[in-house]
Amino acid sequence: MDKQLKDHKQIGQELELFFTNDVAPGAPFWLPKGMVIFKELEKYIRQLTEKAGYLETSTPIMVKSELFKQSGHWEKFGEHNMYNLQLSDEADDSKPVSYTLKPMNCPESTIIYRFRPRSYKELPLRLSEIGRLHRREKSGEVNGLLRVRQITMDDAHIYATEDQIFNEVSNILDMMIEFYKSFGFEYEFRLATRPEIRAGTDENWDKAEKALGNVLKEKSIKAGDKKGDGAFYGPKIDVHIKDSQGRDWQLATVQLDFHQPEAFKLEYIDEKGEKQRPVMIHRAIFGSFERFIAILTENFKGAFPIWLAPVQVQIIPIADRHQKYGQDVLEQFKSSGIRAEIDLRAEKMQAKIRDAQMQKIPYMIIVGDREEAESKVAVRTRSGEDLGAITIEEFLVKIKASIESKS
Ligand SMILES: [Zn+2]
Repeated sequence: MDKQLKDHKQIGQELELFFTNDVAPGAPFWLPKGMVIFKELEKYIRQLTEKAGYLETSTPIMVKSELFKQSGHWEKFGEHNMYNLQLSDEADDSKPVSYTLKPMNCPESTIIYRFRPRSYKELPLRLSEIGRLHRREKSGEVNGLLRVRQITMDDAHIYATEDQIFNEVSNILDMMIEFYKSFGFEYEFRLATRPEIRAGTDENWDKAEKALGNVLKEKSIKAGDKKGDGAFYGPKIDVHIKDSQGRDWQLATVQLDFHQPEAFKLEYIDEKGEKQRPVMIHRAIFGSFERFIAILTENFKGAFPIWLAPVQVQIIPIADRHQKYGQDVLEQFKSSGIRAEIDLRAEKMQAKIRDAQMQKIPYMIIVGDREEAESKVAVRTRSGEDLGAITIEEFLVKIKASIESKS
């Protein structure tokens, strides 16, 4: 990385987005402005998943460790990579119960699936969850938001018949393409196949790897190879992106799993009234909100696209006598859903403009005598472009269009 460039931790402090503190190593504190970005991203992923027929769920963070023994995570990750607590049984102190902070959402998603008997008519059943996970990363590996111990994942599990795998995986790849294109990232798919230590039969691994390979082939997607890098329960297709500095990041993933449906004895009733086992497809589009926001922060150097910008418009009255008109403009922006602020400090206009630019606020609205007399606003961008004086209505149409199009 270029030494001149600030990393996300510095930018996060300067723009008051997030920070870390030794009381919780590997888990960020989100400041109000950072939460604006976090919530906008949540809103975006919810729009995409709702449109694609997902149903949102939420499962407990702290669960009995035996669940992860059943899923195979305990054996694979070892208890040292998970946070476990020994709590005494309320009825009997001599019998401690082991609890785990979930490192994954999948095992609990299967509990939602098993809430009642399922019919083939419900499949594919797409259950999403914005879940908070804990993984015990080594302290030397924890790095700002890029590698954290507390991860917020835009997770989903799809329960499907084998015949539905193709369509589901294909739709997920389309969603990934739409998503990464909207941020202007260069992306690449990579197919990760069976690792040495794995669960499940070779027959199922053959079937799963072939299924993912078929989707890539049919969609004419050229995918790189990640031999032996699959999840312990199944192969996966990962999305790698290149950020503006040419660095490679693994973010999205779609994984095909025949193992956990076996481990949790998942069933559905088919057309003939017979019990069948569904397959499970795991997928995440951001991967982790924390890592994704770290990459966005560095990629845009804090100058977020307008739909994500914590403050979208800064109103700058030239002199005290323009404050009243500035406040009127502010109210109009706010009631139109624009995140606007007004700079009422006793500073020179140039200083206010400079500060708004330092804060990477997309638009600055300058109001003085002429603007007030004509009911207009003078618009400048954070890159220094002067767009001249336009009416408030014209500006609102323009800004709303760029928010809507995520440009
Ligand atoms: Zn999963």
